Amino acid sequence: MEASPFRGVVASLATMHGKQWALRPLLRRRLGLSLRLADVDTDVLGTFTGEVRRAGSARETVVRKARLGMAATGSPVGLASEGAFGPHPVAPWTAADVEYVALLDDRTGLTVVEHVVSVETNHGHVVTDGRDLAAVLAFLRGVGFPHHAVVVRPAAGTAQPVKGIGRLTDVLAAVRRACAESADGAAVLCADLRAHVNPTRMRVIAAAGERLARRLATPCPACAAPGFGPVGAEPGLPCRDCGTPTPRDALLIFGCDRCPYRSRRPLADAADPGSCPVCNP
Ligand SMILES: [Zn+2]
Ligand SMILES: [Zn+2]
Repeated sequence: MEASPFRGVVASLATMHGKQWALRPLLRRRLGLSLRLADVDTDVLGTFTGEVRRAGSARETVVRKARLGMAATGSPVGLASEGAFGPHPVAPWTAADVEYVALLDDRTGLTVVEHVVSVETNHGHVVTDGRDLAAVLAFLRGVGFPHHAVVVRPAAGTAQPVKGIGRLTDVLAAVRRACAESADGAAVLCADLRAHVNPTRMRVIAAAGERLARRLATPCPACAAPGFGPVGAEPGLPCRDCGTPTPRDALLIFGCDRCPYRSRRPLADAADPGSCPVCNP
């Protein structure tokens, strides 16, 4: 940490959902960086519950969110995090939470984005007419309720979802209300993915923060700018049995945000024949 270019720096953190709990201690410990909360409505960039659709990718949004915080606080250094839930990018039959964390530094023109892919996630939903209590309870158990909050909305129509529900009596009341409001008499019950009511997600954000901190502590071998790390990958890992290039990544490309220096590191020796277009067409 002695050499950290962020020692004593105060960065804005744009969050409405308590992400400072995941990020503040590790950034202070690893980089000497402090956080100042930016009072901005990050929901304008998109919500998990669909009232506001996210305009760009999570990677683009995390940079935009950091910019909002910097504008609100006047700080030249800003941080933000953004999550995306869906199929795992490499194993699409598994659900995944991809968490991005970005640091922008206008003093030097630096933008560093890191991400973590985690299969530890409780995102999911169930449609209920409210009569099958056992199904509702099973869903709640599955998403880690009440340590994780849930969201309830009518299955049909445009009524606003009720978010952050953490008590069983409130869940059942919200389901009854949503069923009554919905044209088809059904309610959708889903996990609340906002970080402050979803400790599983908060842990993944902390893991992304650790990765960002490690990267910011890594200077570029060519120009010494902070944040040297993975910027891409090259497919074509040869099949272990027949040597045919597979879609699996063969090389990780490391790069710098400030200069064109790149280096390549092999990821593995060979790919499983299961991913080979010849052995497993
Ligand atoms: Zn093969
Ligand atoms: Zn460089």
